[in-house]
Amino acid sequence: MTVTFEDLGLGPDLLRAVSEAGYETPTPIQEKAIPYVLMNRDVLGCAQTGTGKTASFTLPMIEILSQGRARARMPRSVILAPTRELAAQVAENFETYGKYHKLTMALLIGGVSFNEQEKLLDRGVDVLIATPGRLLDHCERGKVMLTDTKIAVIDEADRMLDMGFVPDVEKIVGMMPPLRQMVMFSATMPKEIRRLAEKFLRNAKEITVDPPSSTASTIEQGLAYVAPRQKNTVLRKWLSEDDVKNALIFCNRKRDVATLYQSLQKHGFPVGALHGDMDQYKRMECLDRFRQGEIKLLVCSDVAARGLDIAAVSHVFNYDIPTSAEDYVHRIGRTGRAGRSGKALTLTTGRDQKQIAAIEKMIGSPLPVLEGYEQHSQQQAEKPEKESPQSKTRSSAGKKERPPKRSRTPWGQEGIGEEPDTGLPFGQTDGVPAFLLRAPKL
Ligand code: AMP
Repeated sequence: MTVTFEDLGLGPDLLRAVSEAGYETPTPIQEKAIPYVLMNRDVLGCAQTGTGKTASFTLPMIEILSQGRARARMPRSVILAPTRELAAQVAENFETYGKYHKLTMALLIGGVSFNEQEKLLDRGVDVLIATPGRLLDHCERGKVMLTDTKIAVIDEADRMLDMGFVPDVEKIVGMMPPLRQMVMFSATMPKEIRRLAEKFLRNAKEITVDPPSSTASTIEQGLAYVAPRQKNTVLRKWLSEDDVKNALIFCNRKRDVATLYQSLQKHGFPVGALHGDMDQYKRMECLDRFRQGEIKLLVCSDVAARGLDIAAVSHVFNYDIPTSAEDYVHRIGRTGRAGRSGKALTLTTGRDQKQIAAIEKMIGSPLPVLEGYEQHSQQQAEKPEKESPQSKTRSSAGKKERPPKRSRTPWGQEGIGEEPDTGLPFGQTDGVPAFLLRAPKL
C-alpha cells in the first residue's frame, strides 16, 4: 500500500502546501522520519541530498512549532547547515511548506547583512537557520541565546566534519537545554559522526535510506561511441529531441565548458554555463533562470555542479566520460531525483575504456550502448550525421564544425572564465543568493 502525506500525521495546512509544491507521495526518508520527528523523538538519518531529506525535518518542525510563541533572542528551533548555500535551501523549504503558517524565520549566514536578521531575532524567531561559525559569533556577542531551543537539526554532519566545524557544533549544542529534541542527518557515518550522535542524541531512531545513486532504476542510462569531431553534432541531435525538458551537460575541462557553451549558444539553444570562478550571485542567478525554465540547458563542470539541487532535471549529458566513477554517479544523480524518471546519456570516443570499466564496476552493471552508436560505428560516425532542424538553420549539414574562437571578454549573462580547480564545495564563494535579499517571511 502506498503511504500518503496524510498517513504521516501532518495537518491540513501543511498538506495543502505540500500538494501545491507538486509532491504526490512521501519519499522513503520522509515516510520513515516524519512520524518519529512528530513524536518528538530524536532521529539519526543516514541520507544524502536528493532523497527529500530536507522536507523530512522541515515538515514535522512546522507542525510542532505551529503551537507556541518565540521569545526575544531565543529561537525555538535551530538548524545548522555546513554551507550558506545549503542553509539558503533549507530556508527556501521553510518558505514553501510554511506558507500557511505564521512562523518567523531568521537566517545567519555569511555574505548577508545582519541588520534585518538581527531585528527579527530581537523580536523572537521560531526557526533560526545558520552556519556554525556565524551562529557561534552571535551567541558569543549575546545576540542569540539557545536556552529555549525545543528542536535542533544538524544537517549534513559529515560535511561539517570535513570542513572542520565539529568543535563549533559541539559548543553550540552545549548551549542548548538538555531536554531538546534533536535530528541529525549525515550522508555517511564515519566514527567521529557516530561519536557526535552518541553525545547529542537520546534514544534516537536510526533511519537509513539508499543514496539517490542507487535509485538508478529511475534513470535510463546510455552510452554512445562517437568520433571526437562528431561529439557536438550528436549532442545537438539529442538536445533537439522532444523529451529534453531541461538538461545538465557535463564537461571534464573548464575550457570545454566554455567552448561548448558558446557553440550551443551559436546554434540557438537556450543555454547557460556554470563554473567555479563565477561569483555566488551570478551562479544563483543562473541557477534561478534554469529553475524558472528561462535557460533549458546548463553546461557545467563537476566542481561547479557539486551540491546543486534542482528537483526536476529531465536529462544529464556527459560530453566527456568523467575521470572518476564517483563523479559519474554524482552527475547522473542530478536527474531521476525524488522518484522522478530521468535520462543520462554519455558520449565516448572509445579511448576511455578504463573509466567505463570503473563506472560499470561501481554501478554494478554494464552501461547500455545506444543503438547506432556501437563502438565499430565510430568510423562511420566520422561521416556527417543528419542534423537536427534546429541546428540546420544555423550551420550547413556536413560542414566540419570548428570550435568557436575563444575570447577574453565575458560570455553573456552566465559568464565563462577559467575555473581554478579549488576543490571548494559549491557555495564557498562570496556573494548573496538573490532570494535572500527579500525580507524573509513564512
Ligand atoms: P533534498 O534531498 O531535501 O535536497 O530534496 C531533493 C529534491 O526533492 C528537492 O528539490 C525537493 O523539492 C524534492 N522533493 C522533496 N520531497 C519530495 C516528494 N515527496 N516528492 C517529490 N519531490 C520531492
